[in-house]
Amino acid sequence: MKIHEYQGKELFRQAGVPVLDGVVATTPDEAAAAYDKLGGAIAVVKAQIHAGGRGKGTIIDDPKQHGVVLAKSADEARAAAAGLLGKKLVTIQTGPAGQTVNKVFVEAGCDIARELYLGIVLDRAAAKPVLMVSTEGGMEIETVAENTPELIHKEHFDPAVGLEAYQVRKLCKKLGISGAAAKAAAKFMPAMCRFYVDSDCELAEVNPLVITGDDQMIALDAKITFDNNALFRHPDYSDLRDLAEEEESELRAGNAGLSYVKLEGNIGCLVNGAGLAMSTMDIIKYHGGQPANFLDVGGSANSEQVTEAFRILLSDPNVKGVLVNIFGGIARCTTIAGALIEASKTVGFDVPLVVRLEGTEVEEGRKMLAESDVDVINATDITDAAKKIVAATGV
Ligand code: ADP
Ligand code: MG
Repeated sequence: MKIHEYQGKELFRQAGVPVLDGVVATTPDEAAAAYDKLGGAIAVVKAQIHAGGRGKGTIIDDPKQHGVVLAKSADEARAAAAGLLGKKLVTIQTGPAGQTVNKVFVEAGCDIARELYLGIVLDRAAAKPVLMVSTEGGMEIETVAENTPELIHKEHFDPAVGLEAYQVRKLCKKLGISGAAAKAAAKFMPAMCRFYVDSDCELAEVNPLVITGDDQMIALDAKITFDNNALFRHPDYSDLRDLAEEEESELRAGNAGLSYVKLEGNIGCLVNGAGLAMSTMDIIKYHGGQPANFLDVGGSANSEQVTEAFRILLSDPNVKGVLVNIFGGIARCTTIAGALIEASKTVGFDVPLVVRLEGTEVEEGRKMLAESDVDVINATDITDAAKKIVAATGV
């Protein structure tokens, strides 16, 4: 689960991670009032979307309007907000369709001496969180990782202990930080690591982490993703959720207890079991097709879930064919076949449907499908299924 920059910064503040004052606004007038409230000469109006790269990103049809705008008066703040609110911002992380800006964050201007990078993720191989810092702040960290990986410095830390003082000193040396700024780092870095663990983050990224003219360390950006598996420990996070930022089909799937991830291709996949879903996507690609989604209906899918799964699949206009790949283990093939027949009555299939059934009660399941009105292309195994759906969708 992702949250907005302004929300992340409020959590930072509570966790003792220094941030600047700022006010969130949903109208140009609110943005102007926010500028006045901040009381400084310079403020920055920042589009709030669940994607990074806003500074370099631009509004669709208005290439001069970037997602982060400097304002030197209340009128400038109002104009900046008017140029962003209700418009679609395209960044390297949004895809070409962009994301609608519903809120802006008006933040005090910062006297930036240096822009650094700080990010914390879970390193599964090491089974520990890892703090990464770099002198290359403000840049795409993926680009830095690819071109100059030696400029990214890492320290793993024990979640129970946190980041230790010697680790901060090591990183400061690598970043060329000393004196008052190093003192600021000795507070900032462990506080961020503690925040990461206590909040059950998957990712906590501060890019840029700035050193100001007077040697303070401040989080100028905040990108936070919580671990969905830990959400039950944080009921308060539901207030932070912005459903407008989430893929509608993924929300629907979540409500129906289905694991669904929308992808770019045109072959809808309905599969039971995450491993089988992964192999199904792989084999579709191997035979030259592109999956439109990952969808795991789970081991014990019922008729309602399968019907809802078809509704979700077919609501994607890119879907030109559907591959159903079921291995009946706990879920019986007869249940799935019955659900398929039900779904075809309520949803109606107007795209080719390839079905591969295997496992418990497979003969009865196939018979049910054969005797039904559902127009099915039968497949004998997973390779056959992939070839048939790729042929049927004409890619
Ligand atoms: P994004 O990563 O989405 O582009 P950032 O929050 O990192 O958005 O902002 C982009 C750039 O804008 C920063 O690298 C920084 O140079 C500048 N910036 C952001 N906030 C402020 C601020 N409060 N004061 C001055 N400059 C800022
Ligand atoms: Mg940033």
